[in-house]
Amino acid sequence: MTNVATDTKAAVTRATTTDLPMVYVNGQMLPKSQAAVNVFDHGLLYGDGVFEGIRVYKGKIFKSDQHMRRLYACAKAIRLDLEKHVTPAEMVKIQRDCIEANNLVDGYIRLVVTRGVGTLGLHPFKCPVPGVICIADQIQLFPPELYEQGMRVVVAKRPRIPVKCLDPRIKSLNYLNNILAKIEAIDAGCLECIMLNTEGFVTEGSGDNIFIVKDGEIFTPPSEAGILEGITRKFVIEELAPLVGVDVTEKELRIEDVYEADEIFLTGSAAEVIAVTRIGDNEDDARIVGSGSEGTITNKLRTKFRQIVTSDNIPEN
Ligand code: PMP
Repeated sequence: MTNVATDTKAAVTRATTTDLPMVYVNGQMLPKSQAAVNVFDHGLLYGDGVFEGIRVYKGKIFKSDQHMRRLYACAKAIRLDLEKHVTPAEMVKIQRDCIEANNLVDGYIRLVVTRGVGTLGLHPFKCPVPGVICIADQIQLFPPELYEQGMRVVVAKRPRIPVKCLDPRIKSLNYLNNILAKIEAIDAGCLECIMLNTEGFVTEGSGDNIFIVKDGEIFTPPSEAGILEGITRKFVIEELAPLVGVDVTEKELRIEDVYEADEIFLTGSAAEVIAVTRIGDNEDDARIVGSGSEGTITNKLRTKFRQIVTSDNIPEN
């Protein structure tokens, strides 16, 4: 394929241990301090691009095929013909090169595809070559103790961007809606929020999907509520929940359904599976979810998740 070099071996050997990770930027494997983008890249100027956040477990790319399908579908949704420049197989090779260059065993890949370098105007088709960045590093979204204890979240006052304006199914570089909602959480002394849509229905967290448990069944908002169709969400629905013997139903949820849930949990590539145990703007008068600690079903799902991602059979498909 044209324009994006994938032979990065020579550059890799120049890595020093203090300037890591080595980062793939538009055909080059560069040490962290030199990994930079052109200021005329529309990814930077306009948030014009798409991305993926992907887990690496035991050196394997977790659900690689699904992440590639979503990336290429999102590129298509913003009228970016990515395949013309980089095939999905080449995109996977870039990720494997980054894993190898950084000796990554367990970690996280951030794959960014920008519209590319163009003019100062909005015109996206004046950017002839998409930009491709791949960072393989560590991530810790929430402190480890919260996985045992469960976390507090707030209900964001700011609604999720409506599907008609910018479909949240597109994992675009435009994350300000989520960032401003996350700031609401941070201002309230916690790390995540529940975002509602403009009709008042529950959508998702700022960087993860939401599930509730009620009377032994699991419910999660449907895609049409305005959510990212998370790959961890799909893993829970199609694999983990059946393994622990619980049904999942996609259903529009009101915030009252969430308040009255027996359990709540969030899912995401970075977040994995984590319980929400309190909802409110401060610790003292937060609503307690269920028993106030991680629920039985959430615990079973989280344990199953950890079992699979630490097994000798990490699913890449
Ligand atoms: N919703 C949003 C808004 C996200 O950014 C993410 C990913 N960080 C998710 C849900 C979870 O998606 P996935 O399981 O594919 O990581």
